[in-house]
Amino acid sequence: MSASKYDFGKAAAKALGDRESRAVLAKAIGHIRVLRRRSVDAMPDFAERRTRAVAVREATLARLPDLLETLEASVTAAGGMVHFAEDAPSAARCITRLLTDRDVKLVVKGKSMVSEEIGLNEALERAGIEAVETDLGEYIIQLAGEKPSHILAPALHVSKEQVSELFDRKLGRKSTDIPEMTRIARDSLRRKFLAADAGVTGCNIAVAATGTVIVLENEGNIRLSASCPPIHIALMSLEKVVGTLADAAAVLDILPPSATGQTLPVHLSLFTGARREGERDGPREMHLVILDNGRSKILADPLLRSILKCIRCGACLNVCPVYQSVGGHAYGSVYPGPMGSVLSPLLTDAAGDARQPFACTHCAACAAACPAGIDHPALLQEMRRRLSAEGTDAATRAFAALARSPWMFAGAAAVARSADPGLTRVAGMAPDSPVGRFLRGRVFPGLSRPFSRRFKALARRLSRHGGRS
Ligand code: SF4
Repeated sequence: MSASKYDFGKAAAKALGDRESRAVLAKAIGHIRVLRRRSVDAMPDFAERRTRAVAVREATLARLPDLLETLEASVTAAGGMVHFAEDAPSAARCITRLLTDRDVKLVVKGKSMVSEEIGLNEALERAGIEAVETDLGEYIIQLAGEKPSHILAPALHVSKEQVSELFDRKLGRKSTDIPEMTRIARDSLRRKFLAADAGVTGCNIAVAATGTVIVLENEGNIRLSASCPPIHIALMSLEKVVGTLADAAAVLDILPPSATGQTLPVHLSLFTGARREGERDGPREMHLVILDNGRSKILADPLLRSILKCIRCGACLNVCPVYQSVGGHAYGSVYPGPMGSVLSPLLTDAAGDARQPFACTHCAACAAACPAGIDHPALLQEMRRRLSAEGTDAATRAFAALARSPWMFAGAAAVARSADPGLTRVAGMAPDSPVGRFLRGRVFPGLSRPFSRRFKALARRLSRHGGRS
């Protein structure tokens, strides 16, 4: 973990001031939470499903290298090709080379957070390849020139009116009627599916035993991206593998209810290799790109490896008070919220602020909601400990030293009380110093009266009233 130039505190403060986006976000998240609650309540066996899925994810991590070898053999046997990428730039280079070698000019893309992680669209643009996002939310985000704000619903922060204005500006068609708006997007995207030279998709689950790539979606755009063009490239991070189709079924038992509140998504696609002899449909070439980007290091870390159990359902984001207040963009990385605050700082190439773990309120709502059994607060606590030891939060360490020594604390408080009781002057003079950063976004109670004196007065009052204040 290392500190980056991105300042989560500044971005969060700016996001807190954007009332319109916060209102849109609150409404959208409220809706998703109701759907999830209903779906989970309607499954009396959800706890058992969860136990089975957690066991599958834990077993997967316990033999991940073996499973990846088996996956490679199975995909190859099914007529596909597997490429391992150590980090984000090599994954982007690998895909770009595959496409430029085949003279590809137009790519249709299914939603993939891993493709965001490796900056694929930017790499393809530099190579002169047009990449069109085909998930409606991603399409909106791409037209707006923005980044996703949620791992599941990339345009969660955008209102219907803003989308209407965007379509008018970019596509020359205006409507605030939702079916008509989806028709506008569909008209534009269908032509791209038919004209595309290649399709790039993500991968929710990869089955080692069969070489099958499983994707979940509600729009059908991933299925079209993978099967219309002559080349299909699926991109996955290495922890998405499971052993067998039965293992995949255990994960599927909990993923849609936790993500969108559905028992199953509208489209559940299983792609195994390329088109076979005699088959009329499907891509002629299939490639599976498997990204590491720091995950093998995480796997080797016994205290943090459990974050790799994540199945990207988004439930922890939807219950997190920090995410709900500041939204996804403030995190500055592809993975926001509790899972992102753990994962992003551990990845080799990920934007954002490595100090995000300090934003956690430790309410533990994320751990309660997580179907993969991840204890985010414990992981974030461990990361805080390591970051503090690395010295990235000098103000906290200085405060800890003061707090451990009563006479030093009393002395420092006496000086501050007479010179700058609210610590506003010191924060204003050096806003980017450790003290300035520590105070930013915090309401300092002021030092007008020592706490010890206030505490004694309170104790006296309590004893006078027989223990009641
Ligand atoms: S950490 Fe858990 S709740 Fe959050 S996205 Fe991953 S699986 Fe879902």
